[in-house]
Amino acid sequence: MKKLENVDTIEISRFESQSHEWWNPQGDFKPLHDINPVRVRYINERAGLCGKSVLDIGCGGGILTEAMAALGATVTGIDRGEAPLNAARHHLLESGLQVSYLQTTAEALAEDNASCFDVVTCMEMLEHVPDPRSVISACKTLVKPGGHVFFATLNRNPKSFLLAIVGAEYLMRLLPRGTHTYGRFIKPAEMTLWMQQAGLIPQNIMGMHYNPLFRTSSLGGNLDINYLVHAKRPQD
Ligand code: SAH
Repeated sequence: MKKLENVDTIEISRFESQSHEWWNPQGDFKPLHDINPVRVRYINERAGLCGKSVLDIGCGGGILTEAMAALGATVTGIDRGEAPLNAARHHLLESGLQVSYLQTTAEALAEDNASCFDVVTCMEMLEHVPDPRSVISACKTLVKPGGHVFFATLNRNPKSFLLAIVGAEYLMRLLPRGTHTYGRFIKPAEMTLWMQQAGLIPQNIMGMHYNPLFRTSSLGGNLDINYLVHAKRPQD
């Protein structure tokens, strides 16, 4: 019998229906465009992307994926949705970059591609799946021993509820309503524990601050809302 996928089909349909918006810097994915330079710099500083094989999980339309390819990495982007991947492939015609895009999940790819990638990234995706621990564990399988894994997600507390859901979806309309489900936000302590349980060693955690008025973002010590994590798989 086929294993039940760790996929929320309602979430996938929502991302599918927004796919024409991926590369519109003023559209539904505006915050992802705005935070991209900061997260790419963080990944590049910690893992040195040039010449590395990179897997981007839940890549959507390829905002992060392309930026890593532009820095000289050989990048594979995977997403469970079809329409985001079409937007991603279409955008390669404009950017002239090379990325391999595949419609699959981290767990399915891990079955035949253990220890294949120098770097695995999984950004703004864990809070959209039923079982984030299963994705974290697949990331550990997919990355080479000694390789790097990066996650970005949203913390779970009253402040993140107010800013990331009430503020961003209802008051400022930065994101379409229903983008985020509070119960799926992940506390940094949970994230750290789940990475350790998967066999990854946490290296660093940083808050990612976003100012929607000025459309600027920066890294800092405040983990209350968005945060980025760097972990490594130990050498065997
Ligand atoms: N990582 C990208 C896009 C984040 S949006 C960025 O930060 O720029 C989340 C993406 O995850 C969507 O494109 C959605 O289709 C995808 N996704 C959700 N659940 C998934 C799953 N189980 N496996 C693979 N992709 C998934």
